[in-house]
Amino acid sequence: MSLRIPSPVAAAVPTTAPEAQAAATPARIRHVPVDGFQPASHAPTRNLNQLQGAAAAPTRLHTVFSDSLVKIVSDENLSLDQAKAVAKKIEDANAFDIAQQGWTNTKPLGKQITVEVLTKAGFDKLLGGDSTGVAGVTMDANTMAVPDDLTSRQNPDDDDTIAHEVSHVQDFREGGRHLDDVPIYVQEGKAYSLGDMYPIALKEDDKDPVLGGIADSLGKLTGAQAQDVMDHYRTAADESAPGRNGFRDETTGALYIQFLKTRLGGAGKSDAVPRMAQVIADVGKGIKYDDAFKKQFGVTPKESEAAFVKYVKDTEGKPAERLKGTVWAPYLKAPPLFAAA
Ligand SMILES: [Zn+2]
Repeated sequence: MSLRIPSPVAAAVPTTAPEAQAAATPARIRHVPVDGFQPASHAPTRNLNQLQGAAAAPTRLHTVFSDSLVKIVSDENLSLDQAKAVAKKIEDANAFDIAQQGWTNTKPLGKQITVEVLTKAGFDKLLGGDSTGVAGVTMDANTMAVPDDLTSRQNPDDDDTIAHEVSHVQDFREGGRHLDDVPIYVQEGKAYSLGDMYPIALKEDDKDPVLGGIADSLGKLTGAQAQDVMDHYRTAADESAPGRNGFRDETTGALYIQFLKTRLGGAGKSDAVPRMAQVIADVGKGIKYDDAFKKQFGVTPKESEAAFVKYVKDTEGKPAERLKGTVWAPYLKAPPLFAAA
């Protein structure tokens, strides 16, 4: 069966189903550095809305594999075994994210996820240009896309990407049409944290090509950059705003989540990830973000942002102190495996 590639910014369907309402939200992209871990000035920050006007012919997709949880569609001759292997990766990462987040209501999470496994050309077309530096995209509550590289290699960073994108799927499903009330640096930061936690949990971290680079990059973050992310990376539209550095924005969001876990109020909230998941579930029920956040973390989001920026400022030039207790602490001195080719 052939189908058109779903638009990542499909118009809202007039329905009360929260996940359908969430489909109007712009796509979530996971950025990876494109030339080592220097600030990637040309990191992709594309406006997926432009796709709406793209005149390019739709990519033809066909279903390769389907079970109750995952449907694999592709624009190429993916073998059944390759598709099954991708489906298994999605299902395992989905279970990991559910366990880590401790959602109290898992009912919305059982619906089938459609995963587009795309050639470079198909992935470029989805993103409206060169997709280099984009590891995965979540289009809506039921649909995500990954490049086909992950069918032909064993790279722990692919597991990272899948756990990241599945986190967005779960947020869309739990937060529904109110998910936009949750700052994008929180959504991306939680997704990035879960993504990075996954290869570590799978004990693949010694072979992971990016954890050391992310640690290095976050060690160099300045207080001014952290402030900029808190101020200007707040809405889904900000993800594709011209001039933003998608990699820095997302990883700074992840550092914020790790700050909540390790530093907030002195000792941090060790269960910050499930607490943030509960915030999103509460927001999905119509509770204001500020109220849902304060209920879990004891301070307002604004107070937490100020404390976060202060912590980054106070630890400028002290990467080991900054990352102590965070998911990246063990990788700070990792060799630069991402050296520019
Ligand atoms: Zn993301």
